[in-house]
Amino acid sequence: MIIDNYQRVHNYLRISLTDSCNLRCFYCMPEEEYEFTPTDKLMQVNEIEAIAKIFVAQGVNKIRLTGGEPLVRKDAAAIILALSKLPVQLTMTTNGTRVHDFVDVLEEAKIRSLNISLDTLQADKFLMVTRRKQFETVMKNIQLLIDRNFHVKVNVVVMKGLNDNEINDFIEWTKNTPVHVRFIEFMPFSGNRWTSNKVFTMKEILEVIETKYSIQALQNEKHDTAKKFTVAGHAGTFAIISTMSANFCGDCNRMRLTADGKMKNCLFSKEETDLLAAFRKGDAIEPLIHESIKNKAKELGGQFTTDFEKILTEDINNRSMITIGG
Ligand code: SAM
Ligand code: SF4
Repeated sequence: MIIDNYQRVHNYLRISLTDSCNLRCFYCMPEEEYEFTPTDKLMQVNEIEAIAKIFVAQGVNKIRLTGGEPLVRKDAAAIILALSKLPVQLTMTTNGTRVHDFVDVLEEAKIRSLNISLDTLQADKFLMVTRRKQFETVMKNIQLLIDRNFHVKVNVVVMKGLNDNEINDFIEWTKNTPVHVRFIEFMPFSGNRWTSNKVFTMKEILEVIETKYSIQALQNEKHDTAKKFTVAGHAGTFAIISTMSANFCGDCNRMRLTADGKMKNCLFSKEETDLLAAFRKGDAIEPLIHESIKNKAKELGGQFTTDFEKILTEDINNRSMITIGG
């Protein structure tokens, strides 16, 4: 088992397949011109499979594929099918633009639940946020997944003044559509123009929803990062990921592997452990995994306090979200 100094058992690995993407969400990409990592520096299919197997042997039972956009990788299908053979719950976070090309592979890999990112229900705002005209495709692909009986979670990063006025539109969407909307508080990463006054907190989100709907909290499961709710009579549900205003670090079971094979023990950790370099040299990576987790900070990567209004972004030492793998 992979256990840290706070007795947290780590059994959930998030693997980024690439730092490249076909969208340009401003809160995820760094501001400056950005060069995607060359293919030979990325973990190759056999390396992803072998490294994942080592994590599984250490107790990992859930793997999420992410990125960048995992489905822009040319060999994404091969990776998905290779990992589907492992004794893990396999899942993925995607921007939804390429799902139609992969739905059969996802079924073959027995992936039953997918997270799709969609911050707005308005085509013009989608273009403004992502700088790409893909709104209709994403909406169609969400419907395609529903029609094929996938459990669809929709990730919405809520930013004050941008889409906080759409919160109840998303709730209304869940009335007849079985989607599970997850409102995410806006988080700071290198170069993403984060300021504390753009964070729309869980408390504020709930206040907006309660002006129109009567809601009920659902029982959370261990390690849930999202606090779940229902509205009576709605086909879907909603949840809130309150990283900034009420973090869930106390129960964290997550580890991350970047597309270039660096292990991060926390989304906000400064430190990285180069597992791919060690693996390519033929060294054992198990000790590196355990050492990385032993160095895990108690909360928020040890980089900022729980009082998010005091965060100074210039003091945060981290990658941009697109290169971490959210
Ligand atoms: N490309 C895929 C997608 O968009 O779903 C997977 C990678 S993306 C980095 C993973 C998730 O991180 C998305 O749901 C995205 O909205 C979220 N994300 C990116 N930057 C964020 C930020 N600054 N604060 C909160 N969530 C963020
Ligand atoms: Fe691409 Fe996802 Fe980042 Fe948007 S959030 S730029 S879709 S990786």
